[in-house]
Amino acid sequence: MNTLKFDLIIIGGGIAGLWTLNRAVSAGFNAILLEKDTLGGGQSVRSQGIIHGGTKYALSGVLTQASNTIKEMPQRWRNCLDGTGEINLREVNVLSEAHYMWSKGSLGSRMTTFFATKAFRGRVEEVSANERPRVFQNKQFKGSLYRLNELVLDVPSVINNLRKHVENRIYQADITHAQIESHDNTINAILFPTHALRLEADNVVLTSGEGFDVLAKKLDIRQPEMQRRPLHMVMVKHHYDLPTYAHCIGTGSKPVATITTHPCSDGKQVWYLGGNVAETGMDRSEQEQIAFAKEELATLLPWIDLSKAEWSTFHINRAEPKQSALVRPDAAYAEKVGNCIVAWPTKLALSPDLADQVLPLCGQPSSHADTNDLQCLSVLAKPETAKPIWETAFC
Ligand code: FAD
Repeated sequence: MNTLKFDLIIIGGGIAGLWTLNRAVSAGFNAILLEKDTLGGGQSVRSQGIIHGGTKYALSGVLTQASNTIKEMPQRWRNCLDGTGEINLREVNVLSEAHYMWSKGSLGSRMTTFFATKAFRGRVEEVSANERPRVFQNKQFKGSLYRLNELVLDVPSVINNLRKHVENRIYQADITHAQIESHDNTINAILFPTHALRLEADNVVLTSGEGFDVLAKKLDIRQPEMQRRPLHMVMVKHHYDLPTYAHCIGTGSKPVATITTHPCSDGKQVWYLGGNVAETGMDRSEQEQIAFAKEELATLLPWIDLSKAEWSTFHINRAEPKQSALVRPDAAYAEKVGNCIVAWPTKLALSPDLADQVLPLCGQPSSHADTNDLQCLSVLAKPETAKPIWETAFC
């Protein structure tokens, strides 16, 4: 049995695990990451890729803790994208430099009053008619449109760029299938007998998304608990070149629909629909959800003929720390239990904030570093990067 020692073993290769691995290695920690399936294949690659600045949450009329924490995120990501930030993400494909917010007709005045307040200065700009994205240039568009200081990223390219810096530290393994030596939430060793490997670490970071539930049972971690917030997402594949990145605002505090656009390998584009369409769609069958989304889009963008479009839906859960009444958690979350650090970013955008919270819980880098140890891990397979769901859903 080969015994290998690390400062950190990270379990789960979504955005949270990969971001934390990059930051940990830069800070001098001897860290590795174990992913059971594909990198990003949980929530991350299925996300809409919006790097929120919190404006959406502030619509309820108060600047909550969520909007204050998240406010800094677009600039931190922009620094990474131009190569001056905490992680070099220059190879990431930026789908849109801005996300927009629009409302129909009379509701526009509510937005105008709201965005005129001091709190939104520098975060939100009204867009004049000739600067609107093509989809909103139709004469039938009567609402008002605001440009938010938020990016939209192609998430598979983020995952690939993150993995590239730490490729030799990423391996495929499911620790629910490993033998674990632990007591009082402290993991002493993770054993893979078929590979004759015994892995020891000062700390184990659990960035396993929804997979935390199974691990918590195996490791007897009772706190923190996890919550799932279910979504029924909709995809519309069409032949238009109408890149659309926008929240449509109604009378409530949540967007009626959030649309992002993703190019497909066959040259078509997919409009990916979240927001209330997805949040209220849990009890609708796939057909009912498609009918609902068709009706919603026909009301929101009546000048776009989608009669020849292809439609598809799927269910997915967001995994987060448990909160009362399934409300949205306020910020990234990390808590240390024994030598396990349980971590959920709660938003892709908050991954930098998550790493800020996780690293101080890891103590100081030790002198475990031994490049031979990494070579011994080559008995484990390498995980692939997950494919976007719109590449497989319409086959
Ligand atoms: P995941 O991406 O789920 O990764 C967890 C990983 O752990 C998986 O790869 C899984 O295979 C692995 N794993 C689990 N168990 C084990 C185990 N036993 N051993 C090894 N590996 C294991 N946020 C935004 O900021 N902007 C958005 O536009 C946005 N849109 C979203 C749209 C949707 C439909 C959803 C669902 C979420 C969206 N989010 C968005 C939220 C965001 O996607 C998540 O907060 C984020 O991706 C979570 O990342 P993660 O790494 O914690 O989890």
